[in-house]
Amino acid sequence: MLSVEEALEKILSYVSPMGPVEVELPDALGLTLAEEVTSPLDLPPLDNSAMDGFAVRHADVAGAGRHDPRELPVIGYVQAGALPDRDLQPGTAIRIMTGAPIPPGADAVVPFEDTDEVERKVADHALDRIRIMQEAPLGANVRPAGEDLRTGERLMGRGDVLRPGEIGVLASVGRQRVTALRRPIIAILSTGDELLAPDEAPGGGKIYDSNSFSIAAAVRRYGGEPWMLGIAKDTLEDTARKLGEGIAADLLITTAGVSKGDYDFIKDVLTANGEIAFWSVRMRPARPLAFGVLHAPDGRRVPHIGLPGNPVSALVAFEQFCRPAILKMLGRTSFAKPRVRATLRDPIINTDGRRVYARAIVTWEDGRWWASLTGPQGSNLLTSMARANGLAICPEDLDEMPAGAEVDVQMLDWPEEAAV
Ligand code: AMP
Ligand code: MG
Repeated sequence: MLSVEEALEKILSYVSPMGPVEVELPDALGLTLAEEVTSPLDLPPLDNSAMDGFAVRHADVAGAGRHDPRELPVIGYVQAGALPDRDLQPGTAIRIMTGAPIPPGADAVVPFEDTDEVERKVADHALDRIRIMQEAPLGANVRPAGEDLRTGERLMGRGDVLRPGEIGVLASVGRQRVTALRRPIIAILSTGDELLAPDEAPGGGKIYDSNSFSIAAAVRRYGGEPWMLGIAKDTLEDTARKLGEGIAADLLITTAGVSKGDYDFIKDVLTANGEIAFWSVRMRPARPLAFGVLHAPDGRRVPHIGLPGNPVSALVAFEQFCRPAILKMLGRTSFAKPRVRATLRDPIINTDGRRVYARAIVTWEDGRWWASLTGPQGSNLLTSMARANGLAICPEDLDEMPAGAEVDVQMLDWPEEAAV
């Protein structure tokens, strides 16, 4: 039986990053940049004001204070997005808004709160003069041109992950599109005669297919493009045919049909149409796990992860194996899931030397993390997965972790953390 690490290493050795494509900036979140980006402009383009206030010569307001104001005539107005229509003359002020270019001749901005602007407005006094109640050093509240970025400066490059900040920087230099590694297309197939599609009526001992939907959601969460192939019947022919429909994908994920039951055909499909790499991992839940490659008619070798059918097993195994595979396809190089060290409120029992991933609710109380189990840990109990926000990990070599023990918990809802 393989360890989780050995299994992951094998899977990752079969997947590679996707090729570069042009994407619209709004669609680029989470993708890996595949070009070098230098700035075609200065930002800000001109010296501009950091405050709403009055542009002045700092020498004209030197020594000003609440009890010793300087009264200056207001000779103009500049708003953000417009160029000043006049220069500042010595001994005058120009009203200026945040982001507006500093008029030539001015070298400081006095914010409204250091003037009698408000009193004047309340008293309905003319706004053609202003009292400056505070001195302003040279350059006060002036943001210099090129302070954020300069023409020709390298902004980001190949391998950088596009987070909201990077996307904002690209937009700020006028980019509408960017070259990034494309999202992998992940085909998802559920297998089992007992499964119902959402538009079918319940009855006859059948159950609705939940794996297609939870796995598709997980694929999307980590940046893949899910392609739902539906449900295959428990026959070699139907499973092979449906998998064949999805062979254009970059990765195939199936659920169920990997145990030792009479109708578990995934291994047979892989053996007949490709290669099977292994099918058992030392973990709980999700011991039965198939991995292999299917040979596509065009010669491509498409990796195939066969997750177990039980809904909790499928999601737990997805986190350990499919998530890193998708991240690698996206061009990421770090796959570690974010973890916290928490104090267990309930014991975890480990009966057979596997690594246990117990569904846990993690909270921050009294300055530390606590982990309570979600109740019965059956791998069929999908609601226990829905309630959990973490997977508490009991190592292979411990028979029991008592309440009060310190435990590592993989945080399920911190998906991006490790990725950036
Ligand atoms: P199997 O691996 O085919 O033996 O399936 C293991 C268990 O998971 C069985 O109880 C199945 O009914 C259940 N199961 C398999 N596939 C799904 C699915 N897509 N949605 C919900 N439950 C499933
Ligand atoms: Mg089955």
